[in-house]
Amino acid sequence: MMRLSKENSTYTFSAEHPPALRIRPGETVVFETWDAIDDQIHSDEDSASKIDLSHVNAATGPVYVEGAKPGDTLVAEILDIQPWNWGAALIIPGFGFLQDTIPGPYTKVFQLEPDGTMRFGDKIRLPLKPMIGTIGVAPLEAITTLSSGPHGGNLDTTDIKVGCKVYLPVFVEGALFGVGDVHATMGDGEVCGTGIECGAEVTIRLDLRQDLSIQRPRLESPTEIMTIASSEEGLEAAIRIALQDMIEWLQQDKGLSPEEAYVLVSIAGDVRIGQIVDPAVTVRVAVPKAVFVA
Ligand code: CA
Ligand code: CA
Repeated sequence: MMRLSKENSTYTFSAEHPPALRIRPGETVVFETWDAIDDQIHSDEDSASKIDLSHVNAATGPVYVEGAKPGDTLVAEILDIQPWNWGAALIIPGFGFLQDTIPGPYTKVFQLEPDGTMRFGDKIRLPLKPMIGTIGVAPLEAITTLSSGPHGGNLDTTDIKVGCKVYLPVFVEGALFGVGDVHATMGDGEVCGTGIECGAEVTIRLDLRQDLSIQRPRLESPTEIMTIASSEEGLEAAIRIALQDMIEWLQQDKGLSPEEAYVLVSIAGDVRIGQIVDPAVTVRVAVPKAVFVA
């Protein structure tokens, strides 16, 4: 299996980066990823206000997928996520949803315990729920890995975990895929600005759909289909986009009318928050596959 070391990483999703690896559609790659703070924090005494913010949220890549052309869809199937045996959660001054009332700095380093969990003091035990924060392709204009958009990016969506397929629109030849910012666990919203940030080894199969053209990221888990939208204008704007995308998807794939699709999302689907702390907030709309009997 092909491997890509974390020395091959970038801080932007951009068509300007030369490919670190070339693969054929359907091939599987093991990506070594930095933690989102580039290994700058090792103990509770390392202040979150000392972090060099020009070296955060690295994405390992880019991977050039042979034959990928604008208008195609790249399918990244998450086969495995192996986080490091430690990670850190932070309150970085100037970040976080409550930055005005709980500004930090605050650092908490977590170690993996023999029982496979992490402890937060004596009273709190955290099961690991590894997920990918940042995953995307090169957009037409370069964008920081800290933000998100139609190309994916810093989506911080808890459903991007093992078993999930991430569908990404291709904007440039080769797609130029990158991935990073793994969390040992994170809650919807990522309110303080981080999950338990950790490096990882992530195994991803990259395939190409030339019969499918999408505008924004979609997810398919074993049990649900999801649309994802990002907006710098806030949650309502993002929800509107994700909802419209889902209604369109249900019309095209399931033959529903707009009204039927709208009602189905209302009675069986969920609107979920990805994160509300990055430059663009992310939301997703999920519909369970089990409702479709034919
Ligand atoms: Ca993130
Ligand atoms: Ca993160």
